[in-house]
Amino acid sequence: MESGAVKAPVKSMELSRQTFDKVMFPCYQPFDMMLTHGHGSYVYDSEENRYLDLTGGIAVNCLGHTPDEVQEVIREQASRLIHVSNIFTNNKTLELAQRLTDATGFERVFFVNSGTEANEAALKLARRVAFDDFGEEKNEIIAFDHSFHGRTFFAVCVAGQDKYSSGFGPKPGAITHLKYNDLEAIESHISDKTCAVIVEPVQGEGGIIPADPLFMKRLRALCDQHRALLIFDEVQTGVGRSGSLYAYMQCPVKPDILTTAKGLGSGLPIGAVLSSSAIAAHFGPGTHGSTFGGNALACAVGCYVLQKVGSEKFLSKVRAKGELLRNLLTDLGERHGVFAQVRGQGLLLGCVLAKPYQGQSAKLQKLCFKHGLLTLVAGPDVLRLAPALNIKKAQLREGAELLELALLELKEA
Ligand SMILES: *Cc1c(COP(=O)(O)O)cnc(C)c1O
Repeated sequence: MESGAVKAPVKSMELSRQTFDKVMFPCYQPFDMMLTHGHGSYVYDSEENRYLDLTGGIAVNCLGHTPDEVQEVIREQASRLIHVSNIFTNNKTLELAQRLTDATGFERVFFVNSGTEANEAALKLARRVAFDDFGEEKNEIIAFDHSFHGRTFFAVCVAGQDKYSSGFGPKPGAITHLKYNDLEAIESHISDKTCAVIVEPVQGEGGIIPADPLFMKRLRALCDQHRALLIFDEVQTGVGRSGSLYAYMQCPVKPDILTTAKGLGSGLPIGAVLSSSAIAAHFGPGTHGSTFGGNALACAVGCYVLQKVGSEKFLSKVRAKGELLRNLLTDLGERHGVFAQVRGQGLLLGCVLAKPYQGQSAKLQKLCFKHGLLTLVAGPDVLRLAPALNIKKAQLREGAELLELALLELKEA
């Protein structure tokens, strides 16, 4: 057992997975166990069952569970300042903003608490820029089928998955969905009325689908031509997940606005919007805001994460582990015929189920769970893996062995 792993579960209250069904909104149906502690890439439930975690809290726990250094940063910062609101500023918010701009070349930062809030702010900002510079007519937002941008109503309506946005009353207008990676669709549709195009460099929830570099190049040129802002949603691909600090750094073009969240706080809720000073200037006093955004505690952790994950040494290890995991998965796919393809970038990988197994990603995920392996899905046909960026190579091999047991069972069923 790794150091610091075991802590006695709270016993003062009788809690179990069943408590969920009594006291929680039913929008999730968590697995049949209750997690109580973890360290590194292992987590434990209330029965002391151990799981190898290849989910990273959905691409959030970039340094694994309860990393020692993050515990130290939290302890230290919690003794100084936790929250002050944005009526005042504080040294940790400013340090993280400085670090983010230094690392990316963007000039300005707006802090929020989640991915959806980052996109919400980015989309509002793009609308405001167009309104200020070109007038009300320029308001169309283009997004792509199967994209995911979060759950606030604007962000969820912009995203290209109707099942998440329908049934909640009238939707915001002037949003168009086009086919992802389809040059012809964007060329024939974009116009001077377009104020923004929002795209994920790798579609995450939509099935781990990387953008074609030629498509991104064309998007950039078309946005320039029509004076539309290009927004990259890097909520999932950012903070080292793709093998570079941000995925756009491996792409031939740079966006006008970048959104980031998930990994930035190593488990603490934080997100950010990055842009040039000229774009940021449109969010003058009173135009937008957040009570918690830029919270000192989350920013202190963000500073640590960015220093750690942003180093070339760390990123080259992420790329090497990404290659190892991809090879392990490809090999499993070839030997068992269950995967048609393994795709993605860095440590964000999707195993596309072969024809006979389509629609069974959740079933495979359950079988993995049975063998002590935590995985994600990205739609019914893709098993998604997003382990901690500092996972050990031996743990990736262990993960592949457990996955093989699940694949054998899937084939027998
Ligand atoms: C997870 C995700 C979001 C939403 O982030 P939340 O923190 O859940 O609000 C938005 N965009 C992408 C690409 C994501 O993966």
